[in-house]
Amino acid sequence: MIFDAHCDVLMKLFIDPDISFVDSDKLHITKRELMDSGGKVQCFAIYIPEQVHSDMRFQAALAMVEIFHKKVLAEPEIKFIRSKKDIDSLGEKEIGALLTLEGCDCIGDDVLKMKTLLQLGVTSVGLTWNYANLVADGVLEKRGGGLTRFGTDVVGLLNVQSIWCDLSHLSESGFWDTIEIADFPIASHSNAYRLCPHPRNLKDSQIKALLKKNGTIGVTFVPQFLSQGKSASIKDVINHIEHICSLGGEKQIGFGSDFDGIEEMVDDLVSYSNYQNLIDELDRLYSTEFVKGILFENFVRHYPR
Ligand SMILES: [Zn+2]
Repeated sequence: MIFDAHCDVLMKLFIDPDISFVDSDKLHITKRELMDSGGKVQCFAIYIPEQVHSDMRFQAALAMVEIFHKKVLAEPEIKFIRSKKDIDSLGEKEIGALLTLEGCDCIGDDVLKMKTLLQLGVTSVGLTWNYANLVADGVLEKRGGGLTRFGTDVVGLLNVQSIWCDLSHLSESGFWDTIEIADFPIASHSNAYRLCPHPRNLKDSQIKALLKKNGTIGVTFVPQFLSQGKSASIKDVINHIEHICSLGGEKQIGFGSDFDGIEEMVDDLVSYSNYQNLIDELDRLYSTEFVKGILFENFVRHYPR
């Protein structure tokens, strides 16, 4: 059983309404691939493409919630996950779909808009994408600002409602401000900076602080975040797992593939069905207990609702 903490399927469905979630070859994750490859809980991010004007971004977020219902949840085998209980009650052939937000730019400075998205079933909120918004700065915003006063309010709301606070993409100073106050931190798709010094990755001190706050980290299959070479392999994924475990993360690690959000892929890990190649390697190297944890149980145990 696989719990994958991040994908951008909804963005692709938003951009091209003709794509079928059931079996399109334009998607890395389809219903068929989830069903055939051990998919159990998949997180679907509301990520609003950069070209959408700021005035239209909340509208776009709502449109993506609509797409999530019409195209993903409309499938009889797919169930909406809003709590651990929902995961526990999944039938053998059923798959859970969890709605997440990637970047708070769509709410502007309006906390009511955030409350609306939470009411619509968003249970994990990434504070930023790569750039600044009114909550915090993202990793590529040169000034590297931290959490704003409004951002502090947003994190407080996430705490009160037991929502995952996703630190992936956040600036380093935003990370430190947030880890102080977030009750349920996660880095849904980030790797180790020590092995691959990309600004999207987390330094050892950040990973340690995240683990200390009982947070979780999803190793991601983005070649540029895995290796400094031209390509990346499953061996690189394993190296990041090893490193995060060496910092004490063996019970708090999982995967956030970023499938459908990436154009370059890890060798032998080019779509959801290729998870099996990674699982074969995990099975070869680690105990059954560890493999079950990293694939599924660690994220489920830390899901705050
Ligand atoms: Zn992302």
